[in-house]
Amino acid sequence: MIGRMAGLLLPGLKTEDGRPVIVVHHSGERYGVEIRRSATARRLILRVRGATRDAVLTIPKRTSLADARSFAERQAAWIGARLRRLPETVALDEGAVFPMRGVPTLVVSQPDARGTVWLQPDCEHPEANQSLCVAGDTRHLPRRVVDFLRRECRRDLERDVAVAAERAHRNIPRITLRDTTTRWGSCTASGELNFSWRLILAPEFVLSYLAAHEVSHLVHMDHSPKFWALCRSLHHETDRAEAWLNAHGAELHRYRAAVSPAQRRRNVR
Ligand SMILES: [Zn+2]
Repeated sequence: MIGRMAGLLLPGLKTEDGRPVIVVHHSGERYGVEIRRSATARRLILRVRGATRDAVLTIPKRTSLADARSFAERQAAWIGARLRRLPETVALDEGAVFPMRGVPTLVVSQPDARGTVWLQPDCEHPEANQSLCVAGDTRHLPRRVVDFLRRECRRDLERDVAVAAERAHRNIPRITLRDTTTRWGSCTASGELNFSWRLILAPEFVLSYLAAHEVSHLVHMDHSPKFWALCRSLHHETDRAEAWLNAHGAELHRYRAAVSPAQRRRNVR
């Protein structure tokens, strides 16, 4: 049931950034637990991550991996219970309803149509306000949906980042889209901005706020009062957008993008 754990049967498994992953079992299910050593942790701390649907065990520096494993194994039932309580994931495939710019959107396959991917109003389905129509072979549909969402996300972000950068008297920075799980955006020391493509799922004021937030980091590389003053001057719904992300941000990770089998083998998460 926890699909992303399928790769965890390999021995000596590690995350992409080299952290060890151990696999624990309970009632026929397997759960991956990422091990993080911490210089400041004084006890073992286990948590379940909604975004990645896995568990992280933070251990003090001197705790052995064997001790970490036996601790995680004793907690396997708890991990399973917490994972089962997470909201169901939704594959971005034919028939799925997902929020696009916050608007409920139904994925519709149009195998005989020409063209690529387009949006149109939907009055037939009460659960959606619009349809995302995907032409061509249905086997390519999930990938084309995500490619479309990433393109739209980039377009919205480029527009909003340009507006914010001009108002902050900064050059328009380069933008990279990622599928990050812990941050919606970030700003590198060299002034490049990274964003999660999932922001296209959030209401428009949330995406435009993230653009203003990261542009503000081109001026202040911290979250000081000066930073927040600038951010609020660039985006008047800063507080509302922060509140929205706190309340609903995790839900944006429910929507599963199609990944190729090769990608699935490479990535633990
Ligand atoms: Zn920030």
